[in-house]
Amino acid sequence: MSFSRLGLSAPLVDAVTDAGYSEPTSIQHKAIPVVLRGDNLIAAAQTGTGKTASFVLPILQQLSQGSRGRKKRVRALIIAPTRELVVQVAESVERYARHLPLTCMAMYGGVDIQPQRQALLDGIDVLVATPGRLLDMYSRRAVHFDEVEVLVLDEADKMLDMGFIDDINDIVTKLPPQRQSLLFSATLSNKVRALAKSAVVDAVEISI
Ligand code: AMP
Repeated sequence: MSFSRLGLSAPLVDAVTDAGYSEPTSIQHKAIPVVLRGDNLIAAAQTGTGKTASFVLPILQQLSQGSRGRKKRVRALIIAPTRELVVQVAESVERYARHLPLTCMAMYGGVDIQPQRQALLDGIDVLVATPGRLLDMYSRRAVHFDEVEVLVLDEADKMLDMGFIDDINDIVTKLPPQRQSLLFSATLSNKVRALAKSAVVDAVEISI
């Protein structure tokens, strides 16, 4: 099975070829068609399985096909627990979007907000953020959620372990209700399922 057989377009197939991938991993094989269809998804997948590409590739395809709003606001929001993971995911987005006119930004705490605020003003398609800094920027009206088409909660179990449940629920209530939502977690514990119940309704569930 090749990436193009999964329904990915040429600019994305070229990007994974550039990255040296010859075929999709198991999670990519299962998740990419679901996400391309626009369905909500809950996936049990550990780091190292290729889970990042399994959501980034189909999201980029959808964004490249849809039209951008006039306001140049965020269209895909990926929330992850740590600065390290945010940076890593944003690097993946940039790698896979290299043949597409889409922009990405990493947002995390512990650094000056001004450069992040400026980057948002320039217009960002994909925002990868930690929960605390994201809410901070939202309360400063530096980021807007009204054009968010897709939400990803990455490493949801880790975010819950780190005590981000209230922040995540707070963010989710501010998002457009008609969005697509995806949740990735190493394990689907009861706590993760409880979060999914409110944030990722009517989801397809996959595990690898
Ligand atoms: P992740 O589980 O998303 O952290 O990805 C783990 C590693 O697998 C990353 O270094 C990716 O670049 C790599 N990777 C992702 N998809 C593939 C693939 N289809 N073939 C080979 N390597 C891949």
